[in-house]
Amino acid sequence: MEERKVSCILLEKTCKSDDKHSCREALLPKEKKKKLELVNYDSLPDYLKHNEFVVGHYRCEWPLKDAIHSVFAIHNETINVWTHLIGFFIFLTLTLYGGNKIPAMAEALYARQTNSLAGFSISSLTNTTGFMNHYQMTNLSSQPNPAITRWPLFVFLGGAMFCLLTSSACHLLSCHSEHTSYIMLHLDYAGISTLIVTSIVPQIYYTFACDPFYRAVYTATILALGLLTVLISLIPVFEKPEFRFVRSLVFVIMGLSGWGPIAHKLASYGGEPAALVTTMYEFFMNVCYGVGVVIYATRIPERWRPGKFDLVGHSHQLFHLFVIAGAYVQYLAIMVYLEWRDRVGCT
Ligand SMILES: [Zn+2]
Repeated sequence: MEERKVSCILLEKTCKSDDKHSCREALLPKEKKKKLELVNYDSLPDYLKHNEFVVGHYRCEWPLKDAIHSVFAIHNETINVWTHLIGFFIFLTLTLYGGNKIPAMAEALYARQTNSLAGFSISSLTNTTGFMNHYQMTNLSSQPNPAITRWPLFVFLGGAMFCLLTSSACHLLSCHSEHTSYIMLHLDYAGISTLIVTSIVPQIYYTFACDPFYRAVYTATILALGLLTVLISLIPVFEKPEFRFVRSLVFVIMGLSGWGPIAHKLASYGGEPAALVTTMYEFFMNVCYGVGVVIYATRIPERWRPGKFDLVGHSHQLFHLFVIAGAYVQYLAIMVYLEWRDRVGCT
């Protein structure tokens, strides 16, 4: 395929006036205006061509400052930026909310828990009226028994915030240059891998809280898979639009790897209601991500009416919403894990 050079901005201006200064002054506003025009898909350089069914409203090679300011402008990435930016603030709120509920002795509790997990007794204070009672589940001061450590929860929240923020930055800044686009795209892939890995880490930790061997084996496996996914994403062919399905498949395989420990959980703790409830949440999380990936890969609905969903409703925006929904469902699952482990310890 013929390699296209930048065609979307006016690179050169000739000025026939003798007064070069006034000539430049006269050209500047017009030139700037020209640079900040939104362009069509056909005018894009190859590295910005990802979806031919989104026909117009592209920013192309905008100065970095203008690209940043365009967070408040209308273009085909506005909703992609804001969906994950709002998602970031939702998870930041959950982090701060959780932080307020966890006393400073969390580290001490963690040390105690790792030293004597077997010493936990079945709590007689299992009067939770619902799994979603966050206060009861996270306010340690209300529970006389030592609670399980919270760091896996914060690993997940950190991973979710990292993914959502890198995604927003990617959508906002990739239009700047080929180099920026390359960096942002790989940061985005790293963010998705981080979200998947950090979603599975608490699930493994709390399921096998009393079984350090399996906890270590499963954690090492998911970390290795995450690293492998990031490395695969560095292979140049991975970026090509026609490899959209391969990209999706790699992330789907990594996501599905969480079902190994889930099956193990059901075999070991099938009689524990919390094990079943967390599995139900994990199933819905996978459904959210699965539906999102199918929409992302098939580019529905814009393939049916190219150009009609440029600003609102194209597949990537829907994909973002399913990612946020999936991450929130996983947060709910972790809340149930916490309630379970706080209640029964290692028995
Ligand atoms: Zn995205």
